[in-house]
Amino acid sequence: MWNVNDDLIIGVFALQGDSREHLEALAECDVVARPVRRPEELATVHGLVIPGGESTTMSKLVGIFGLLDPIRERIKGGMPVYGSCAGMIMLADEVLDGRDDQVTFGGIDMVVRRNAFGRQVDSFEADVDIEGLEGDPFHAVFIRAPKVESVGEGVEVLARISGGEADGTIVAVKQGNLLATAFHPELTGDLRVHSLFVDMVRAAGR
Ligand code: GLN
Repeated sequence: MWNVNDDLIIGVFALQGDSREHLEALAECDVVARPVRRPEELATVHGLVIPGGESTTMSKLVGIFGLLDPIRERIKGGMPVYGSCAGMIMLADEVLDGRDDQVTFGGIDMVVRRNAFGRQVDSFEADVDIEGLEGDPFHAVFIRAPKVESVGEGVEVLARISGGEADGTIVAVKQGNLLATAFHPELTGDLRVHSLFVDMVRAAGR
């Protein structure tokens, strides 16, 4: 059967983090999903997912594997990128509580603070309403998540935590072709965030 997503190729940054879960979620969205570890692999994809993991390690490895500038260039060129948790940090223009030498790809005009939900709530789950997603609230899993402290004018806030101590905290944002969530949709089996990103990649063209 012909499928609209058939020749859409989405890469998953695979130097560090839970790339496998994202590859599986994307495959379920009927796109071709490929790990990206080298610039040559990056060159073959129409969009990129940056998984959860550890942003300080990602920051080191992108330098060693020569992916920092190529990914920055693709972002400038309009390639859609979705970052989840550590991936969100990698898309932030400014990081607080990072390592002194920590670098990001940047692209989203926001300030995020690493590991900012405090020790007691290191990991937690919350149901959040995400703009543009139909149906029930999204069951969001947070694991040592970054906190979005502020966003610039060009950033659309897609979701906030509602209720509890973290009430009002921004947990999903979009700026142009860049999407980021502080939580991990790849761990829940709910494909709606990945589908939203696939739609962004399709809309951006090939
Ligand atoms: N705390 C991690 C970091 O700073 C992010 C955690 C995650 O991706 N689950 O990169």
